[in-house]
Amino acid sequence: MRICRFDDNRLGVVTGDGIHDVTQTLKELPTWTYPLPMFDPFIAELPKLSAAMERQARQSAPKPIDGVRLLSPVASPGKIIAAPVNYKKHLEEVLAQKELHHGNLINEIHKAGLFLKATSSLIGAGETIELIHLDRRNDHEIELAVIIGKPTRDVSAANALSHVAGYCIGLDITIRGPEERSFRKSPDSYTVLGPWLVTADELKDPSHLAFTITVNGEIRQDANSDDLVLGVPELIELASSFYTLHPGDVILTGTPQGVGPVRPGDVLLAKMDKIGEMRVNVGTRK
Ligand code: MN
Repeated sequence: MRICRFDDNRLGVVTGDGIHDVTQTLKELPTWTYPLPMFDPFIAELPKLSAAMERQARQSAPKPIDGVRLLSPVASPGKIIAAPVNYKKHLEEVLAQKELHHGNLINEIHKAGLFLKATSSLIGAGETIELIHLDRRNDHEIELAVIIGKPTRDVSAANALSHVAGYCIGLDITIRGPEERSFRKSPDSYTVLGPWLVTADELKDPSHLAFTITVNGEIRQDANSDDLVLGVPELIELASSFYTLHPGDVILTGTPQGVGPVRPGDVLLAKMDKIGEMRVNVGTRK
């Protein structure tokens, strides 16, 4: 199933005909009192809600995808985990260019581990990336994004994929400079997830996905998840050996070679096999 959020927090199932509104399903979610859970309640309940969503989708007339504003398919992730330099050719390009590494010590992922982006940086494809510090280089990074489906701690790579709810395209927008990664990658709107979540029963193997991003029609990154240094199972194993992963937690798996600057007014088009494509506008903070 392909699941999206759109407009005023509506829930949709995407088919070849368009978006079928299944917002009513959200009434089945448990209600929470303070303290609110540190995971995404909808993703946690997804296995129980799937049948009702499919039924409602068949009963609701499709809307054209172009006519809605897509939000992040995960509303409230507890963590946005990200992998640094997880493609060999990207490591080589970073080491070769001072404007990318700024004298920071750049290690391969086995030594560097993972980092976190602020959850407040998250937007969907229908929202605008609002760049800040325009005097500095702001880059696009396209990445395969993994959404965790159930509590996961100390899982082995062999068992890791059964803990995945689904996948989407991720953009890890980045200000280049000397500061810590998480600081430069966490401004509001610097994480984009979309266009929708493709559930893991539909996308069983994330290891052979070709993907591209263009900026104003010019191709910038063109790669395949085959070339990940640590694949999705290994990333989940590594992450879950440090902290418990919860439903709705996002893992951005790292970007391949070809990162480059974006400017206000640019239009990004990101495409990934078996997921789809999303067009995202770049603006500036108002
Ligand atoms: Mn990245």
